[in-house]
Amino acid sequence: SDAVNRVFRNGILHATTNPVVRRTVERYGMQLGAARFVAGESLDQAIQALRRLEDMGFKTNTTIFGEHVFDEATADAVADEYIRVIDRLKAEGLRTNIALKPTHLGLSVSREVGYRNIRRVVEHGAKVGTFVRMDMEDSPWVDGTLGIYRDLREAGLDNTGVVLQAYLYRSEVDLESLLPYAPNIRIVKGAYLEPPDIAYPSKADVDRAYIRLAERALTADGYTAIATHDRRIIEHIIDFAIANKIPRDRFEFQMLYGIATDLQLQLLRRGYTVLISTNHGTGWYPYLMRRLAERPANLLFFARNAVRL
Ligand code: FAD
Repeated sequence: SDAVNRVFRNGILHATTNPVVRRTVERYGMQLGAARFVAGESLDQAIQALRRLEDMGFKTNTTIFGEHVFDEATADAVADEYIRVIDRLKAEGLRTNIALKPTHLGLSVSREVGYRNIRRVVEHGAKVGTFVRMDMEDSPWVDGTLGIYRDLREAGLDNTGVVLQAYLYRSEVDLESLLPYAPNIRIVKGAYLEPPDIAYPSKADVDRAYIRLAERALTADGYTAIATHDRRIIEHIIDFAIANKIPRDRFEFQMLYGIATDLQLQLLRRGYTVLISTNHGTGWYPYLMRRLAERPANLLFFARNAVRL
């Protein structure tokens, strides 16, 4: 039920900061099944997965694992690494987009460092034709991330997009403020632990907010990425798009690598654009914990593998 899932989700997200949990999961996680959600611990491995997905007809993106960098030199190095990843993907003939976490590139050092590094990556993407989306992280970073998006667009950089989280009360206002840019917006439910004074605690409310945001974005100028594995929402959006004559090139579905793969294929076969979001690198721990928190069954999947070891 909703209440049980909420307790479970909050429990896992709380446990994420526990050092013993972290050490244990980092040691055994890959063997126990993290590989299902991780396209590769190296870029080389990820490239094989990305090529397979593109060959099947999917759009793709990739993210280097990492977040909450607090020193400038590290953040600068992450931007350099993203530029190398963009060039490598091009050299491999892949059309893969980039999705990056602003705090990985230094938003957590300062707004200026974050902007400078993200702008460097987006400018490089503009040069070679690669789209760069900023993911949306936990609530302290929302203002900074949206501010950087506005600054990039004001600077004439259009190969970039943002994310709005349906669980945040503020997102409907944020959406209205972004619409003048004809933005490329990904809509998600929201993956972090947020207090009830800023985010809907109930799943039913989050789902309703998701549909409101998606419908508003789809009927405005721009491009909408419907990022969810929720079949009910996806079918609702398909019906809405048909009823409102929203062309298929104005939106796409996005799902995470390794999740609801049958649904990914089914939508592709129905002629929709489907982007599979991948991550690579060794810092997969917080990402894995967010995926576990989303679904109690994922923990069972891990437990079963632990018994087999
Ligand atoms: P839910 O109601 O949670 O799930 C619907 C159904 O999907 C479930 O019943 C189950 O069948 C399946 N499912 C969902 N999650 C899992 C799972 N982990 N394992 C197996 N099955 C599952 N969040 C952010 O806060 N910021 C971001 O920038 C961001 N980017 C995202 C990008 C993409 C492409 C996607 C798909 C998600 C992103 N998210 C992001 C995560 C998002 O906020 C949700 O936490 C996540 O998508 C799970 O919610 P759901 O929409 O799938 O709906």
